[in-house]
Amino acid sequence: MVRVSGKSLQVMAQRLCGKIPPARFATLVTFRDSDSNPIDQGILLYFPAPRSFTGEDVLELQCHGSPVLLQILLQRCLELGARLAEPGEFTRRAYLNDKLDLTQAEALADLINASTAQAARSAVRSLSGDFSRAVRELVDSLIGIRLAIEATIDFPDDEVETVAVGRQSDRLNRLRHDLSAILSRATQGSLLRDGLRVVLAGPPNVGKSSLLNRLAGEERAIVTDIPGTTRDMLRETIQVEGIPLHIIDTAGLREPVDLVEKLGIERSLREIEQADVVVRMADARTQLEQQDHAIPAPLTMDFFGQQIVVHNKCDLAGIPAHRYSEDSLVHVFISALTGEGIDLLHDEFLRIAGWQGHGEEVILARGRHLQALRAAANHIDHALVELQRSELCAEELRLAQEELNSITGEFTPDDLLGEIFSSFCIGK
Ligand code: GDP
Repeated sequence: MVRVSGKSLQVMAQRLCGKIPPARFATLVTFRDSDSNPIDQGILLYFPAPRSFTGEDVLELQCHGSPVLLQILLQRCLELGARLAEPGEFTRRAYLNDKLDLTQAEALADLINASTAQAARSAVRSLSGDFSRAVRELVDSLIGIRLAIEATIDFPDDEVETVAVGRQSDRLNRLRHDLSAILSRATQGSLLRDGLRVVLAGPPNVGKSSLLNRLAGEERAIVTDIPGTTRDMLRETIQVEGIPLHIIDTAGLREPVDLVEKLGIERSLREIEQADVVVRMADARTQLEQQDHAIPAPLTMDFFGQQIVVHNKCDLAGIPAHRYSEDSLVHVFISALTGEGIDLLHDEFLRIAGWQGHGEEVILARGRHLQALRAAANHIDHALVELQRSELCAEELRLAQEELNSITGEFTPDDLLGEIFSSFCIGK
């Protein structure tokens, strides 16, 4: 399909197929070149502005699925004055024409890039405005509280103030509670989006590659790649309950033989630094301490991520699969060969990820959303502390609102004035 967006596209439609199609009807037409020779027969859809995805006139030309035909049709559109769209340009125009807010535009990109079915479902919900609505509801209650607090600045009257402070404190606490709930849903969503980075470390032959294969194999199919990075021998992305696990096998971390390998290893080390979980693999038949020296040096230095100790080859050791924790370190006995205990390991990954399996409630958030939500929560906490000092409290609430507005891209410095005048009958 070739899609065109812009002003006054009837002219283009007329020249392409000899008629102006009715709005929003699938019309069978013959697309023609500049000499009126037929290019192909197909379906033309015409969405006049403003009722279209971009808010402008939109034409959708559906031809037979040949790449050559599509090229010819595209070329014809360029001849008629169109130009190739830039990446994301349709969505950008939709945003600029108020068809989508920023969160929805981002959800659309997330939907297209979703690597799991759960992530896609969650993106669709954000696209339909779920996340934006939730944020707007927060903003609405925040504005209400700001109005009341700002009023106490303008009309200081001790008695009024004392009553007001108590009431605003309740409202603010409720708001903070709602914000926490959204933050928790968004945190879950960022997991669906970004997943968990897992590093497998341990001496040679302990079974790292076998575990990687077992984890990948168990999840039948969807093995994706982290967008923007190339795939190499060291990493694999699998999913557990829809959460992408980016697994890095440090087996490849040895003295590099050439520059390409050196670059690959350097990249892996950078990723390892950001790992969420390090799986320290050991042989179930041997004491852990005797094996740690074999872990590659960069890994034994300062690791911040959580650790799981996996005792592999429990089949050979004659120990059944199990899990226990000691000194806040979790140990799991498994057999990568037979698959015993792999489910325990899955559970451990999900626990570390903080996955609560919220299902439909999850908001597919991005880093910037989480940051804004956390910053807003912070300002509201400060506002609660400053409740007695209206000016400071009001300022914190203003900052909280700015943060929330930045999520949907509706930052207007002081849209509050209008609200104040419309909802307070000051009359002076
Ligand atoms: P790596 O060097 O740590 O990647 O170890 P590999 O995955 O290559 O495994 C080394 C050897 O141990 C292979 O022959 C595997 O088949 C074997 N192995 C790995 N895991 C298990 C296990 O759980 N049980 C048994 N019996 N053999 C295993």
